[in-house]
Amino acid sequence: EAVPFAKTGGLADVCGVLPSELAKLGHEAALIMPAYRQIHAAGLPIQPMGVEFELPLGSKRVRGRLLHSHLPGSDCPVYFVQNDEYFDRPELYRHAGADYRDNCERFVFFSRAVLAAAVQLDLGVDLFHCNDWQTGLIPAYLKIEHATHPRLGQAASLMTVHNLAYQGTFWNWDMLLTGLDWKYFNWQQMEFFGDLNLLKTGLVFADRINTVSPTYAQEIQSAPLGCGLEGVLQQRRHVLSGIINGIDEASWNPAIDRHLLMQYDADNYAAGKAACKAALQAQFGLPAQPRTPLVAFIGRLADQKGIDLIAAVMRQWIQQHDAQWVILGTGEPRYHELFEQLAQQYPAKVAVRLMFSDALAHQIEAGADIFLMPSRYEPCGLNQLYSLKYGTAPVVRATGGLVDTIVNATPQAIADRRATGFVFQDYSVVALAEALHRAVDVYLHHPQTWQRIIQTGMRQDWSWTHSARQYAALYQQTLDQARHTVRV
Ligand code: ADP
Repeated sequence: EAVPFAKTGGLADVCGVLPSELAKLGHEAALIMPAYRQIHAAGLPIQPMGVEFELPLGSKRVRGRLLHSHLPGSDCPVYFVQNDEYFDRPELYRHAGADYRDNCERFVFFSRAVLAAAVQLDLGVDLFHCNDWQTGLIPAYLKIEHATHPRLGQAASLMTVHNLAYQGTFWNWDMLLTGLDWKYFNWQQMEFFGDLNLLKTGLVFADRINTVSPTYAQEIQSAPLGCGLEGVLQQRRHVLSGIINGIDEASWNPAIDRHLLMQYDADNYAAGKAACKAALQAQFGLPAQPRTPLVAFIGRLADQKGIDLIAAVMRQWIQQHDAQWVILGTGEPRYHELFEQLAQQYPAKVAVRLMFSDALAHQIEAGADIFLMPSRYEPCGLNQLYSLKYGTAPVVRATGGLVDTIVNATPQAIADRRATGFVFQDYSVVALAEALHRAVDVYLHHPQTWQRIIQTGMRQDWSWTHSARQYAALYQQTLDQARHTVRV
């Protein structure tokens, strides 16, 4: 999945931006993805290429063909693998609350199609950058079936994990669909507690592995964040690293953001943020109180995001302190109910929008003073980076990408002009409340320190250019390493 063609999560943001950033650095990058129904909604020209193939899938042979487009604003090619039976569906992986039953078959087909496309288009691929379980078979096919292939034999593979909780596990008989020998169905390679596991397959066979932050790369080497794959990851720790995702500054930059009533930058943020805060209060029906701290959350209303902590802290604060709360998100019904109830009970303090709205997300990032991310785990996280850019102090739990991007406002870090937010350790209501108290105290009583924290964050560079450079270096490292490894 890749923006603007198809998106269910942060993976799409990475795949939609990284190839063109690599192209800017002088690399030849191309993107291959399934021709999902959604790809046409982007309104970009998509053409057939006249390239067809027929691939083995268990005992069947299945036909597919390639379509062609470009990433917007670049000449970076996008190849779509078309098979309407597999990919022309209402959603990408699941529908009406259940995974598609043939997900394994769909992505065996896609993985084989990627390799067929590389050969038939004569792409001369040095390295396949595979993302998440949907592509986990590609490194295995390269190593097992194509080790001596004249075009694919030299290609290296990098497996990127965007969220280890999603592994692509299927019942053991789906092994037949892969066409690989049963000897690979063992606990050290493709098998996982009796099932076939496509992410594990990728982790085992790829030349290198990375994830979307250095801290998450460490955390997944042990339980519970290893999600059962900690053993494999520990074993491969010498080829495992982390790179923080960048943010797309064409759309997330308060200096040019058209969603905002008034644009602003790090040198001149006070008036802009004040105007955006007043607009947000008006839009959400909250009293126009410029000095009342406005605390926000945007994101999936899921356990991972620490919604239970947010709700508990809100209940306490609403009784005891002056603050306004803005929540934007969709997710589990019980959280919808909970926030709706709070908004009804305390309309002067709590405003909730249970929907997906990109425009509102921008307006909240600009209008809020404090942004909460008390995640249980967070592979990278984007909202804390948007918050830095928009001059909104993040209050985050010390996990995953949040550790790697936010510097806690200790007296020393403030003095050194390194502090950018407020960090807490324990996953508890007490710890979140304590961090929020610290933030609100600085906001209300130490305006110069607040300004320093805000400006330090706003001036940081979290652009994709920076991350793309790190990926280019990792590709080179992967190639060097693959060339020195004896192939199996
Ligand atoms: P994750 O990928 O785990 O959901 P991230 O912080 O990495 O979390 O990225 C989530 C992205 O989705 C952010 O860009 C965030 O602004 C956006 N987002 C999530 N929920 C909503 C919503 N209800 N409305 C608008 N944007 C949302």
